[in-house]
Amino acid sequence: MSERAGRGVRRLLPVGLAALAGLVGGAREVAAAPLIGVKIYDPVADPDALFREWRRIGIDTAFISTTLAESDTFIPAARRAGIRTFVITPVFFNPEYLEAHPDAWAITGRGEKAKNDWVEFVCPSDEAYRQERARYVLSLLEKRRPDGLSIDFIRHFVFWEMVRPDGRIDPLDTTCFCARCVGRFERETGLELPAVAKASPRAAADWLLAHEPEKWTRWRAGLITSWVEGVAREARRIAPGVKINLHLVPWGESDYENGPMRVVGQDVPALARLADYVSPMCYAHMLYRDPAWVGRVTRDLAARVTVPVLPSIEVKESYRKEPLTKEFFAAALDEALAPPSAGVVFWSWPPLSEDAARQEILARRAR
Ligand SMILES: [Zn+2]
Repeated sequence: MSERAGRGVRRLLPVGLAALAGLVGGAREVAAAPLIGVKIYDPVADPDALFREWRRIGIDTAFISTTLAESDTFIPAARRAGIRTFVITPVFFNPEYLEAHPDAWAITGRGEKAKNDWVEFVCPSDEAYRQERARYVLSLLEKRRPDGLSIDFIRHFVFWEMVRPDGRIDPLDTTCFCARCVGRFERETGLELPAVAKASPRAAADWLLAHEPEKWTRWRAGLITSWVEGVAREARRIAPGVKINLHLVPWGESDYENGPMRVVGQDVPALARLADYVSPMCYAHMLYRDPAWVGRVTRDLAARVTVPVLPSIEVKESYRKEPLTKEFFAAALDEALAPPSAGVVFWSWPPLSEDAARQEILARRAR
């Protein structure tokens, strides 16, 4: 149960019953149990055995790939085992789509495709893509009936996993300055760019960033918010009670000159109003931060939104050679679970499945 739902139930109880609930729950205020989730992507041979193992170490929620959601066995087995399921649905990251639709690439201010290593982004104003993606997500919900949707890559292009604490992100490396976006910006804001500014993505970027940076930033964030708005509304119509979680880049307003808005186009308060949870990807080791940073990100975010915050933390090192020690893991986990957090989501199951010590660290806290 979410903290919000927990408070709702208490409000609805008559005074006497509320007091009784307090007694049953012990002397302390009845707090909702934290959600303990894990991200899992690859097919599972024996889901029943997996869920027994998860029960033992305290995991109660699966954040699953669309592949797992599409399998005939995983969600039904999770339901039988009392494990909640959220389907991770990537939105503007879609290499397969771009392979088939080369005109759909998002374009940076340098006039280049929005590609950095494996990170490949679709133009967020490509209406055909927006609708196709929404239909796919909603059809998955209708057919497979997970407990929730966990909307991922709901943002503009950046390889944020590679951005160091002291890094800088050049506005020319942000997106999307394609002709489709510039035209849509003009129509939706009523602001017309001079002809020279429409000669190329670079010309558009130079003009927009020099003359209308705030309007541009707000408008391009609106492309992200409006996709969530449409899908959340339809999802709740199809499956009343479905939970919507949003994956957020783990930056605060003071990071990278308001990186959440300026770079990734995540208008956090506006997005949170459409969701049931927000989940910052607090991959501290990857990002050259200390474990205490996980708690800071969680607290700062919780102060800006009215929904529960579910920090996601990494289990093992990635993108760097130095090991993520079990002491680091334990400290990050404690930070992730500290109030006002509503739980934790591990990224991801394979490294946790191979590490008995880390499982034991989790099991002790879950008990
Ligand atoms: Zn575009």
